[in-house]
Amino acid sequence: MTGRVVVVGSANVDLVVGVPRHPGAGETVLGGDLRRSPGGKGANQAVAAALAGGAETTFLGAFGPGDGAGFLLSSLAKAGVRTDLVSRVDSATGTAFIMVSPDGENSIVVAPGANSRLSLAGEQLERIAAADVVLAQLEIPLEAVTAAAAARRPGARMVLNAAPSRPLPEIDADVLIVNEHEAADLAGASAAPEELARILQRRAPAVVITLGAAGCVVAEREVAHLPGFRVSPVDTTGAGDTFCGVLAAALAEGRPLREAAERAGAAAALAVTRPGAQSAVPTVAEVAEFAAGGNT
Ligand code: AMP
Repeated sequence: MTGRVVVVGSANVDLVVGVPRHPGAGETVLGGDLRRSPGGKGANQAVAAALAGGAETTFLGAFGPGDGAGFLLSSLAKAGVRTDLVSRVDSATGTAFIMVSPDGENSIVVAPGANSRLSLAGEQLERIAAADVVLAQLEIPLEAVTAAAAARRPGARMVLNAAPSRPLPEIDADVLIVNEHEAADLAGASAAPEELARILQRRAPAVVITLGAAGCVVAEREVAHLPGFRVSPVDTTGAGDTFCGVLAAALAEGRPLREAAERAGAAAALAVTRPGAQSAVPTVAEVAEFAAGGNT
């Protein structure tokens, strides 16, 4: 193992149903069978970081009473994520209601529950201080995100996936990852991704904007567009999470941001060819084989 990643974020029980099309407001659509799977941006990203192979990964999140917590923690542990410092709170474990249409598009409503009670302290902050990369998202209180950023050691990097969109005060992040919609929201402008990335560099020195099938834009000193891998999408749930987790693990291994984003893009493309969130995350060996095979 080289490098340490700490993921601070949400864990949700995903209740997934296939739908022929997404319902509009006031409309009812009959779906398929209900499936329960482990999810939540934070937990998904932790699984992706752990399966990326190189870095030791810890997940810091909050769980409620009931069997949802055990279900989520066993999925994390199975991927090799350390879960010894998670918080237990008196609020229901987070739950996400996910609809997936035949073209693989999803729409999601999250009941955050325990996630909104996450507050970092003591050994959790010490684990963050020992990390090379700290990765957080916005499904938890902003106070937890800022506490995580403040606890990192000098030289360690704070990677913030500013998702889902919400008003964001200044946060001390080294790398900001957003999709096109989040980028426009955060920049308060609609523009080409390269331009949005430049605008968002006022918030963080490095910015990555993911562009779905079109790949991503990476902005540091230069702005580069990395094209997407061509695949047939089955379920895009968790593509962005796979991207963030793999990118964080690659940074913790000491890879440059652009190379980390390339690897993350290959892993995320593979993830969209599989159903589910955590269950869709590929292993490092699968990503290497896929990337070697090129854009097939
Ligand atoms: P998104 O959150 O939709 O921007 O997706 C995150 C990342 O997943 C992208 O930057 C791509 O690397 C990958 N990805 C998502 N959708 C697709 C797709 N349809 N084909 C290939 N790669 C994809």
